[in-house]
Amino acid sequence: HAKRTAAGHALYAGSLDQDCTRRLALMGDLHRAIANDELRLYCQPKVAFGSGRICGAEALLRWQHPRAGLIAPDEFIKLAERAGLIRSLTRWVLEAAFRQAYAWQAAGQHRPLSINLSAQDLHDPALADRVRGLFATWGNRPELIQFELTESALMDDPEGARETLAQLKRMDVQLFIDDYGTGYSSLRYLQTLPVDAIKIDQSFVADMVANEDSATIVRSTIELGHNLDLSVVAEGVENQAIWDRLSALGCDTAQGFFVGMPVRIESLAEWEMQSRW
Ligand code: C2E
Ligand code: CA
Ligand code: CA
Ligand code: CA
Repeated sequence: HAKRTAAGHALYAGSLDQDCTRRLALMGDLHRAIANDELRLYCQPKVAFGSGRICGAEALLRWQHPRAGLIAPDEFIKLAERAGLIRSLTRWVLEAAFRQAYAWQAAGQHRPLSINLSAQDLHDPALADRVRGLFATWGNRPELIQFELTESALMDDPEGARETLAQLKRMDVQLFIDDYGTGYSSLRYLQTLPVDAIKIDQSFVADMVANEDSATIVRSTIELGHNLDLSVVAEGVENQAIWDRLSALGCDTAQGFFVGMPVRIESLAEWEMQSRW
């Protein structure tokens, strides 16, 4: 018994240690990721329930690490925030996203692209100017650019975020509240922040067919959003059953593996031509 405990303990300590070592190594490498051209922009399509057609896409960052392979953002965005690198990452994402959105626009493709911002971006006084500069450089139509801000990033410091949101909104872009339902949002802020849509967090959507409580949360969020004149996007739409439930509830937009997996952003237009949407 003692041996098993000792072995179990050693294993546990070992894996924590490995995690920590990996994080430290990644943190060091992250400084060079941009200079070494290791960041990649992926994106995932969104489909409108009404038309059954693709109505936009979300830009999703990846890190093509030379040894560790393709790394998902959950593993490095927080590291970047802690290392003070998030502004450089966001700048890279903004440039790549505007460039691609402009290419779609120039090809006559109407495909709004949404860009994720982190809490620290909302408190970066230079962010709005950078976005304004990109509009001036590329000539993107504002209705084809959207920003996603997590509920927790907004509630972190709602008054501080308000100024950045107001500046972005003055450029006529659309603003989405992301991961809705996972933070502590006040209904007052939902009412007074200049947002256009809410994205129901995938944790509620993905199990709404199996779990009645999740279904209730999804249904109430759709009602609340519509009563406040907000469009409602459901993330984590993983199968037909979820699609059918959301469609019956009057949800506006679906995003998830059932609609399409994230793909390299350069290949989305081609993916779309071959998809059933
Ligand atoms: P998010 O904004 O909530 O993005 C949705 C995530 O859910 C994506 O993970 C997507 O691949 C995944 N997903 C999509 N459909 C499904 C589904 O049906 N089922 C399940 N289980 N998952 C699904 P990803 O790409 O790994 O991104 C994770 C998070 O990293 C994002 O969550 C976002 O918060 C953050 N992130 C991604 N790109 C950026 C970026 O450019 N800037 C910032 N600041 N954060 C980013
Ligand atoms: Ca998002
Ligand atoms: Ca989300
Ligand atoms: Ca999320």
